[in-house]
Amino acid sequence: MGTCAENRKSVPALFGSAVFNDDVMQERLPRDVYKSLRKTIDEGKDLDLTVANAVASAMKDWAVEQGATHYTHWFQPLNGITAEKHDSFISPTSDGRVIMQFSGKELIKGEPDASSFPSGGLRATFEARGYTAWDPTSYAFVKGDSLYIPTAFCSYSGQVLDKKTPLLRSMEDLSRQAVRILRLFGDDKTKQVITTVGPEQEYFLIDRALYEKRADLRFCGRTLFGAQAPKGQELEDHYYGSIKPRVQAFMKELDEELWKLGILAKTKHNEVAPAQHELAPIFTTTNIACDHNQLTMEVMKNVAARHGLTCLLHEKPFAGVNGSGKHNNWSISTDSGKNLLEPGKKPEENLLFLLILAAVIKGVDEYQDLLRISVASAGNDHRLGANEAPPAIISMFLGDELTAILASIEEGRPYEGAPSKKLETGVHVLPDLNMDTTDRNRTSPFAFTGNKFEFRSLGSAISIACPNIMLNTIVAEELRQFAEFLEGPGELAPRVTELVRKVVTAHKRIIFNGDGYSPEWVEEAKRRGLLNLPTTVDALPRYLDQKNIELFARHKIYTEAEMEARYETIMEEYVKTLHIEALTMIGMVRQEVLPAVSRYVQGLAEAVNAKRQAVSSLPCRAEAALIEKLSGQMDKAFELVEYLDEKLGNPRSRSVNILSAATYYRDVLVPAMEDLRGAVDAMEMHVSAECWPYPTYADLMFRV
Ligand code: ADP
Ligand code: MG
Repeated sequence: MGTCAENRKSVPALFGSAVFNDDVMQERLPRDVYKSLRKTIDEGKDLDLTVANAVASAMKDWAVEQGATHYTHWFQPLNGITAEKHDSFISPTSDGRVIMQFSGKELIKGEPDASSFPSGGLRATFEARGYTAWDPTSYAFVKGDSLYIPTAFCSYSGQVLDKKTPLLRSMEDLSRQAVRILRLFGDDKTKQVITTVGPEQEYFLIDRALYEKRADLRFCGRTLFGAQAPKGQELEDHYYGSIKPRVQAFMKELDEELWKLGILAKTKHNEVAPAQHELAPIFTTTNIACDHNQLTMEVMKNVAARHGLTCLLHEKPFAGVNGSGKHNNWSISTDSGKNLLEPGKKPEENLLFLLILAAVIKGVDEYQDLLRISVASAGNDHRLGANEAPPAIISMFLGDELTAILASIEEGRPYEGAPSKKLETGVHVLPDLNMDTTDRNRTSPFAFTGNKFEFRSLGSAISIACPNIMLNTIVAEELRQFAEFLEGPGELAPRVTELVRKVVTAHKRIIFNGDGYSPEWVEEAKRRGLLNLPTTVDALPRYLDQKNIELFARHKIYTEAEMEARYETIMEEYVKTLHIEALTMIGMVRQEVLPAVSRYVQGLAEAVNAKRQAVSSLPCRAEAALIEKLSGQMDKAFELVEYLDEKLGNPRSRSVNILSAATYYRDVLVPAMEDLRGAVDAMEMHVSAECWPYPTYADLMFRV
């Protein structure tokens, strides 16, 4: 009999054990089939049906051995979550039995009924057909009793209805443009350039039983009421703090589940707010990082449930403490693994690096709006600009060294260099550390962190697809312009320097190394002419600006109709989110809060009567004052809930023009919701804990 430890698989054995990955393919596919499939994966070559049949059959056999009875085309519709419909492998035989079957056709193409997925008006509901197409660049895997096949999703007439297709297109396009640049620098080997992403994921863990008791958490994923607990994050004792056993058990199982799925879960720690945590994977190809992040969010929720916990991925579950974000670490690398954003020892002489850097600088400045839009949602509006997340103003942090190098190029003088700095620990047994050339800047939305950019404005709940589509496309556009210029006659080096100089002069306004949380920055950014788009409603209309439509059309990422559809979908989601929140508030106040306070006041009144029966002269000052105070607060809350209900029913909230509806929600309903919350939270402070109808902030954040 083995011990528990002996029965455990080692991590390398566990890793990818539920994935139909390259090892499994090599082992199970005939050699020529494997080779053609590899060509499809690596070079985008079309796959013929005989190969597909062989792959499907091997995939099915492997999946059945893993315990799968079904398969599903797994896709990523516009609502930012994943969708799946499961079909079993069974196929009847003439003698009334079944066998397990899976054909190449079933692997390559699926036909889910698409009528109920958001399409922003792209697909009329009578044209319900949608197609899913196998994405062989992201490995299939087994989860539960199904074989999951990552797929792209489009409508019958070929319009893109998902987030994977444009992401893959943007990656291919960036590759094309970057390879043009590499050729100019004498690289004739690189066939493909990829973007890489490592998304750090923040989340909250709370007790499931407490979660179940709050309608706001169940319907909206965040608390709509809640007075502050006596303690929040002010002692900064949670960040990197020792992890509680229950959370540790959750994290351990989460790691194992993710490793099985081939997800490179690497770092875990407590975050700033109480009950807040983070998981970061090792970076990988953007498309796969995106699939993996979607899976990670789902596995987090499932594993939490098994531990009697609930994982909150909302951007702002609790007022008064930090919300959750997602840091999108992004870089560009060749197919042989050379990171093009690696400055090397002498960045000032690394022309290729400086050119790529210039492309990013120019792109971020010219398309600030797109980056802001890519992270816009009702949930993320609570974070951006609230001094806990980067501001809604997009700017770039480069650090002192790179900024000085760029300044010297702009001014046409040699770079004097920074003295190499050692961090002396002053203790013999400790090594002296080489100091990073850039310090961290937590307040910048887009920070260079040594060999990659960290886009820090993402909310925790969103798919990383959209921000990366934007990043890839805008950098592809700048590289295209650079290639066009540099492919002309003349010596390369002086022309690159010239180009970088021009970019720095024209776009240095986007570079800001200071404190992005300070009010002075808002003023300074305005002087620099940078955009400040505080809410989703401010940001989104710019999506359809001519320059953006032209950008996506030129790079064949989206047609204008597809962009309009995306605009509609995001705006609609904004309105619907706020609508659900308002309805939830109204329900909680009318059905729970007011009755509870009323009962409490009744108890107080009964107490006064009982006390006076015993001693008729008792003043009962405390009860009397509380009754008066709470009655006044109840009247106020009642007034505010009636007001919110009335405003919600206003025809303007149902306007067919989605922009005016969204504007109405932002300007009328959000303030009404805030006022109502204020009135309810004030009552919470005066009502006995046992009367209060739902768990408090203290319960939710400090009980795990
Ligand atoms: P932090 O920002 O919290 O200090 P790290 O520096 O450890 O975290 O890295 C954050 C993330 O950046 C990790 O997911 C890591 O894999 C990712 N990362 C590192 N190098 C690259 C790269 N070249 N491209 C994309 N992501 C990268
Ligand atoms: Mg980070």
